[in-house]
Amino acid sequence: MTGTAPPTSPRPAESGWYNTKLCDMYTVVGMVVAVGRGTRYALAAALLALLTALSPVLAAPPTAGGLATPTGIPLPPPPAAPIAPTLSKASTAPNAPTASTAPALPQATASSTIPVGSLPWPVHGPFAIGAHFHDFQNYSGVPYFHGGTDVRTQAGSVVYTPVAGRVTVSKYRIDAARVPLHFQYQRWPFADRADTDARYVEAAVTDDQGRTWMFRHLDGKSIPSDLLRRSRAGEPIPAGEPLGTIVAWHQPVLPETATYHHLHLEVLASDGTYLNPARLMAPLPDTDPPVIHGIWFVRNEEETTFPATDGRPRVSGDVDVVAAITDRMPNSRYILSPYLVRTRLMALSGSDAREILPWTEVVRFDRLPVTGDRTQLATVVYKERLRIDGKPLLSNGEMGPRFFLLTLTNGDRRAGYAARRSLPTRSLRDGIYRFDLEAADLAGNVASASQEFEVRNR
Ligand SMILES: [Zn+2]
Repeated sequence: MTGTAPPTSPRPAESGWYNTKLCDMYTVVGMVVAVGRGTRYALAAALLALLTALSPVLAAPPTAGGLATPTGIPLPPPPAAPIAPTLSKASTAPNAPTASTAPALPQATASSTIPVGSLPWPVHGPFAIGAHFHDFQNYSGVPYFHGGTDVRTQAGSVVYTPVAGRVTVSKYRIDAARVPLHFQYQRWPFADRADTDARYVEAAVTDDQGRTWMFRHLDGKSIPSDLLRRSRAGEPIPAGEPLGTIVAWHQPVLPETATYHHLHLEVLASDGTYLNPARLMAPLPDTDPPVIHGIWFVRNEEETTFPATDGRPRVSGDVDVVAAITDRMPNSRYILSPYLVRTRLMALSGSDAREILPWTEVVRFDRLPVTGDRTQLATVVYKERLRIDGKPLLSNGEMGPRFFLLTLTNGDRRAGYAARRSLPTRSLRDGIYRFDLEAADLAGNVASASQEFEVRNR
């Protein structure tokens, strides 16, 4: 996974943008997993099975509290959905209470099961999380999962490995493009401490569980000579060993206008699975819940939102539900994506609400849903853009301020993801429904929001 064999003929840089724009991108050469026809059929079969299982519910005659026709029940007027990203932590979305009023997640999925790591963070001074491994990024228009945790701290900070293992020091390069969509990565053994390509130097440590910990953006001049010797000799290093210092990085990530000196820490399991580095480390104090900025409905795989009447979108056919969700940590302005998102669907009748689809974890980012090329599923789990009343609303994973739209109906953590998945409203009776959403950060802070909508197919 951290092979260092030099490519015999490295591709020339096609544009050179990766040297100046990308925080860090990486993929494992040769592990691209395509979603082939068989997989699509499997996903279709899974959806069919779900619908079959639901059919007794969906076909049930309207009863009190059941699926029913619109009743004209009075609804609180939903505030206008913000079009511009709302970056204030204090803000609340349309009908989106924050943690103080949100119902707690049931114990089965609350902080009791949010895994807590114990390893020491690899820098000793103060730092902020600049980006999560599950964040959507799209530098130069190439959509991908970030893949690692950015530990934002001072340039020159010493990086220490929290795990023991065999070390490999490399330099690397990224070749990525939108057409054809790909993300390729090349490595060479790092040998020259005076190497000027200093932003892309990595020390990788493979621990006794086969996980490979990649520490990126080390200053090439800072790599201890003994570490280089052990890298060449294939000798192990103990936990706590210094790997070098963080290189200066003068490109800011807005709204923080300072430089962005950072360690990119990426962890791959032995099977190539991207693991959440922040989950493996000691927990960080965080009392701020995510912010849910809005919930919108579009036709499956489309961008234009259904128009709303009295704040209630009227939808038909196969529908995707999209939510804008961001998170921040205390004393930090960096915008992050949520760790956990779950949803349920309720049918409303009078003052009754009946559960149609139970709470389901759309994402829980202990690991990414892909191995290899990180462009896979990036625009399936995340949504690149919406058009709301003619105005675009974009995910932004570039320089910032970052902003994240997530599609909530393209699958879930257990069943997998596919763009063709949707909420098939023809399987529902015409009537009024409510989509409930909860989003949590790694510390277990929860935000919730709901959006009513009308199904009208007949
Ligand atoms: Zn990074």
